[in-house]
Amino acid sequence: MITDDPDLDVAIRLVADARLGSASFLARQMKIPFAAAAVFLDQMEVRGIVGPAHGSRAREVRVRACHRCGRVGTRGFYVREPDWVTGNRTACRNHDACDRRR
Ligand SMILES: [Zn+2]
Repeated sequence: MITDDPDLDVAIRLVADARLGSASFLARQMKIPFAAAAVFLDQMEVRGIVGPAHGSRAREVRVRACHRCGRVGTRGFYVREPDWVTGNRTACRNHDACDRRR
């Protein structure tokens, strides 16, 4: 759990995974109304997960997500370019800690 709201947690992981702070992206992925997705992004801004809104442009995303354990944070990740075979390859640098979280 990242927050006390499971739906917000899902939204945070999607945004962190895709590195895309966009309400239309979130609305599509979660099959929720655009306005609900925009509220999630505002809640993320309060938590420092995304930057402020700039009109209709996507927001800056300030966190990453581990594709193995789901950890969301700013530090302790290695990042490879995503590719079409393996998907998102961002993972914890500390494999033991990552394994314990799975
Ligand atoms: Zn991990």
